[in-house]
Amino acid sequence: MSIDLSSELKKEQDKNVSDYINKVLSLIEKEEINEEEAGWITKETVDGFREHVNPGFLSYRKTVTKDGQFAAVEWSDNGSCFKDVNGKEYIDCLGGFGIYNVGHRNPKVVKAVTDQLKRQALHSQDLLDPLRAMLAKILADITPGDLKYAFFTNSGTESVEAALKLAKMYSERTTFISTTRAFHGKSLGSLSGTAKGMFRKPFLPLIPGFRHVPFGDIDMMRKTFEVCSSVGEDVAAVILEPIQGEGGIILPPENYLKEVRELCDQFGALLIFDEVQTGMGRTGKMFAADLYEVVPDIICLAKAFGGGVMPAGAIVAKEEVFKSWFENPFMHTTTFGGNPLACAAAIATIGVLIEEKLPERAAEVGEYFLEELKKAAKGHEDKVLEIRGKGLMIGIEFHKDETGYDVSKGMFDLGVLVAGTLINSKTIRIEPSLTIRYEEVDKVVSTFKQVLSQVSV
Ligand SMILES: *Cc1c(COP(=O)(O)O)cnc(C)c1O
Repeated sequence: MSIDLSSELKKEQDKNVSDYINKVLSLIEKEEINEEEAGWITKETVDGFREHVNPGFLSYRKTVTKDGQFAAVEWSDNGSCFKDVNGKEYIDCLGGFGIYNVGHRNPKVVKAVTDQLKRQALHSQDLLDPLRAMLAKILADITPGDLKYAFFTNSGTESVEAALKLAKMYSERTTFISTTRAFHGKSLGSLSGTAKGMFRKPFLPLIPGFRHVPFGDIDMMRKTFEVCSSVGEDVAAVILEPIQGEGGIILPPENYLKEVRELCDQFGALLIFDEVQTGMGRTGKMFAADLYEVVPDIICLAKAFGGGVMPAGAIVAKEEVFKSWFENPFMHTTTFGGNPLACAAAIATIGVLIEEKLPERAAEVGEYFLEELKKAAKGHEDKVLEIRGKGLMIGIEFHKDETGYDVSKGMFDLGVLVAGTLINSKTIRIEPSLTIRYEEVDKVVSTFKQVLSQVSV
């Protein structure tokens, strides 16, 4: 009789994996965890990141936290706050870089997703699915101008990819103008539009035809259009964020977006607004396009679109443009884009934004927040260069990167999560839930004030 060792080993391994899975599932199931469980979760998380996710995250967390706080593990959330496994509560002013516009686990969004989940989670992809049609109709109603047809995605990057492909197909041109400090995502197509050299360099050459011009410089934009046209490389589209997010909350100069629109019209190019971060009420209007009264040909959405519950994104385009995909709707597809759970989340999210007048609230609370932060920074002009923003999209720019990191660290210690931006760490961003209470705003401001007086220049 021979014993099959490898099969014994396999059995043993399967049992270990099963036991581990059951332990994890039992923790997911729990409403409250005890201290021992919290300790186990923290250890498994830190070990898991070091051995199997990417130890670089641990090094990064150490640069933005004090003492042992790099190992803080998030566990539950509600309203404008989340808690770590040890029960410490944080006011979330970062929120996945602006995904919690309707708050963390907004009950109406959770209900819609749960109700949908009980009936059908994903779709066959072949039959007609109802929620996609209904969400597309809602989007046509709430997006500016004559934006009419929607294509659904799972992320911001995918929305940008879809917009670029649609613009190419519509225009039969291959030149794109993007801007310095832009962030459009990190897939090869969207990265072509993104500006930061550090993220682009290892992957060059990206898709050909991209030119970057300084954001806000209309003369450069005009000259680039003229040059492209004169050398026979006509511009398919200009892609930009109406307010740059990752770039450090950069507001467009007066009339800039209107003038870009005019240039696009003059040269027969499309205008793509990447509203992945500025959309869904963040800037004080449903879309930043409304704020600046400019109608793009294609708008890109994601981040807060799924209500902070489901990953979801979309592009919405004018019929004239989108009809390039009528003949063959399979020209650009994604398996999960527009799935029933994501659509349920997005529909409920838009409902909450409208019913609770959250864009208006963002404008009002944002103005108060901005003023209070400016007051708190008085006397610290040696550290703080500028505080700016629109609605609840606020940036605090320091003279030095280190000050930004030190302020983030100090605020995290005191239970407020803010973050340096990926592209410009001199600026920390404040992008809380649009439902944030005034008391919470006051706490963030007083924390900022306290920390600012403690950090060195
Ligand atoms: C975050 C962001 C993206 C990328 O979205 P992902 O969901 O991370 O792929 C694209 N554009 C803008 C303006 C963003 O802020």
